[in-house]
Order: sequence, then structure tokens, then C-alpha cells
Amino acid sequence: MHPLAKLDHRYVWHPFTQMRDWLKREPILIVEGKGALLWDAHGREYLDANSSIWTNLHGHNHPRINAAIRGQLSKIAHSSALGLANEPASLLAQKLIKAAPSALRKVFFSDNGSTAMEVALKLAYEFARRTGHSRRPKFLTLEGAYHGDTVGAVALGHIDLFHKAYSGLLFKTDKVMAPYCYRCPFNRARPERADARGYRKCNWECVGKVEQKLVARKKRGNPYAGFVFEPLMQGAAGMIPQPAGWLSRAAEIARAYGALLIADEVMTGFGRTGSAETRAPSLFACDYEGVQPDFMALAKGLTGGYLPMAATLTTQAVFDTFLGEYDEFKTFFHGHSFTGNQLGAAAALASLELLQSTASLRARGRLEQELRDELKTLWSCSNVGDIRQVGLIAGIELVRDWRTREPFELGERAGIRVCEAMARRGVLTRPIGNVLLLMPPYCTTPAQVRRMVGVLREAIQGTCAVQR
Ligand code: PMP
Repeated sequence: MHPLAKLDHRYVWHPFTQMRDWLKREPILIVEGKGALLWDAHGREYLDANSSIWTNLHGHNHPRINAAIRGQLSKIAHSSALGLANEPASLLAQKLIKAAPSALRKVFFSDNGSTAMEVALKLAYEFARRTGHSRRPKFLTLEGAYHGDTVGAVALGHIDLFHKAYSGLLFKTDKVMAPYCYRCPFNRARPERADARGYRKCNWECVGKVEQKLVARKKRGNPYAGFVFEPLMQGAAGMIPQPAGWLSRAAEIARAYGALLIADEVMTGFGRTGSAETRAPSLFACDYEGVQPDFMALAKGLTGGYLPMAATLTTQAVFDTFLGEYDEFKTFFHGHSFTGNQLGAAAALASLELLQSTASLRARGRLEQELRDELKTLWSCSNVGDIRQVGLIAGIELVRDWRTREPFELGERAGIRVCEAMARRGVLTRPIGNVLLLMPPYCTTPAQVRRMVGVLREAIQGTCAVQR
């Protein structure tokens, strides 16, 4: 075993990892990266097929982002945002507001996706109380939601495996069904395919469920303070896309009943959900459904996946409710030591510039299409039940049998075993239960896309069962 791997085994506790399993084998220890490639301590090469847990956008070791970080480093790495402003954070805030849905006017920086959601939650809570909307504000969230691992963010989440153990620590949020067309309890039809033969008509029952919740709450005289959602695709739920039109409908109803819209774009932001070729050239999923959120949480890709930095964007109206004389104590009493970090902001500025370049837009369009074409080849595997792609995010749901859609038991570790087989063949990704993910960096070449999908196919075939 590599000496560094020994140190890891001895001292490091890994996230979302059964450490007993971890300690059974030598870990892959990454020492270098370039573009979509990673190298381990033994010199083995891998494709980074999940963009280092959905963070990396333009590839590793990108000369422009490296230069931006080095340039900033030669001036200063960090100074506090408590009582001080700084150059890259001011510039970044301006650029984010320009790129985001137009109702968003202010940026509150923090460190990661969870804190970005905590900030949105606390602001929405206080906004509801201060405006007289509600004395004890409550939030409506989606089944299968995941918004991070800090306690407030966990309270907004609904993945029992991750969240249930901590229920005693949490405040209560209401949940409502989210669309899951592949396992739709009503009609098993994707709305856009409702007219195709063999599909029953979609009556948007899932939107109706959202409405029922909002109506019931209003009748009790305590309307929801906020409706929290991951726009277009729920990530940790298993890469579950919302059918076109679901979000705009649900958001419109939520707003009609007075709920603020809290969009978690931690995964979907920065071009992940679509390219200029296939959609309007926006960087954010909300725009594709014409939704103007009151809060938008950003992290992961904000710095191109280089440094831990996050931002919560909000409206002038929310900002204004926190204005007052000093001794009114309307201040937003929240902040982190690294809020507005200069190195992170410099990386984010370089990343945004790359994202907004024509070359990046074109590359994303091509990559999205290549991924779509390659993924079709997976339909020949009898254990592939569903293939779901939104822009540059793909989820492949494994099932025991595609005809019955019967899932594998979680204990069978089907997704984990496929990913282990992929790693042996030089492609790295992580599953969500029985769902395998491909989320390539935007610089991934056509040959690399073919390799990612080809290795995934071989791993499914070798791990699960017979051919269709
Ligand atoms: N929201 C969403 C939609 C996410 O996917 C994640 C992380 N996977 C988070 C929030 C939490 O982000 P972080 O891990 O940076 O705290």
C-alpha cells in the first residue's frame, strides 16, 4: 500500500462512507489532475466522470483559473468580510447579479452548499416574521429533497437514509411529492410523451399535490413562508428530472399563496442543466422555467470547482427588511470566517468568464449531444430501467428487470458494485443508491465521453446480469 494511503487509513474519516468497507482495500489516492483526467499515487489514470462530486466545470488544472488564483495569491489570500470589503468579492457579486434571474439584487457569501441554504432559510424565516406574514414560519419542501448536511439544511431534506437518524435535532418542515415520472404513482407517463401510444394522459397530479398543501396551510391561517426546491432536477434524490412545465406551475401556485421561492441551484447552477444549443443561454435552471426565485443558493461550480465558496442571492425586498437603526438590531447576525474569501472569488471570476465565452457555450452544446447519443447505447442492458439526462447531468437507474421496474435492494449495493467495477477500468463516479451518475467536466472530449459510457456499460453488464 502507498505510504500516503496508509496515513489515510490511519487518520482520515471519509464522508458518506462505511469506514469498515473503506479500510478493507487500498484507497485511490489522487495526486494530480488535468482536464477531465485524474492520476493516482501509483500513476494510474482515471476519468473524472462526476466532476469531483459535481463541482468541477472546466477541467482540473485549468490555466486561466490557476492564473487567477496565483494572481490573487500574490496580493492577498484572505481578509475578513466582517467590517471589510475586498476587490474580487465585490466584482464577483456584480457579475453574479448580472447573470442571475433579474429579481435577485444582493449576494451573501458563505462557504458551501449547505451554508448557502442555511442563509436562505434564516433570511426567509426572518423576512416572514418581520413582514407579518407568519409568526412561526414554516417551509414546504419536496420529497427526496437534499440541501446539505448542516442541521438546518438537513431539516429541509427528506432522504431517510441520510436524515432520519437526526430527526430529534431538526425543526419540522412539510413535504410534498415531487415528480418522478419513471415511477409515477398516477399514470406512468412523461407529460411530454402523454400523446404517444401506450401512455396515459398526464393530468399534473403532482402539481395538484403542491396546490393542496398550500391551500390547506392557508386555511389554517399560517401560509408557508417558503417553497424550497432544486430546479429542473433533484440531485441526491437520484437525478430525478422534473417534466417541462412542472416548476413554473408549482412556483406560480406557491407564489400565489404567499410563499417565497427558495431555489437550490447548488448542483444545477453554472450551465449544468443546459447549453445554448438546446436552451436559452442562461447559467441557471430557474431561467429555463421562467421562475424568479426570492433566494438562489450557489456553491459547487461557483469557483469552477476549485475552492470552497458559496453564495446566497436574494431580492431588494428581503435586504430592505434587515435595514434599520443600529439599536433596532435588525442586522442579519450570520457570517463565517471565510465569507467573501479572495482566492475563491478570484477563481469564481475566472470561471464565470470562461462560462460566458462562446467557446464554452459551444463545447457544452456538443458535449450534451454526445452524452445523449452515447447514453442511448445503454438501453440494451436489461438492468437499465431509466436514463435521465438534463443538460450535462445524467442519471441511469438500475433495476432488477426493466420490464417490472423492480428495484435492487439497497443492501445489494448494485450501484456501488458497478462504480467499483468502473474504477477498476479507469472511470470514477459515485452512485446514489441504484442510480449511476455521469456528470462530466465541460472540457470532456468525445472520445472520453465514449470511454465513460462504454466503461459504464461494461460494468453494468459485468456486475448485474444478462443482456436484454
Ligand atoms: N444542495 C444540493 C442540491 C446539493 O446537491 C448539495 C451537495 N451535493 C448541497 C446542497 C450541499 O452542498 P455542500 O456539500 O457544498 O454543502
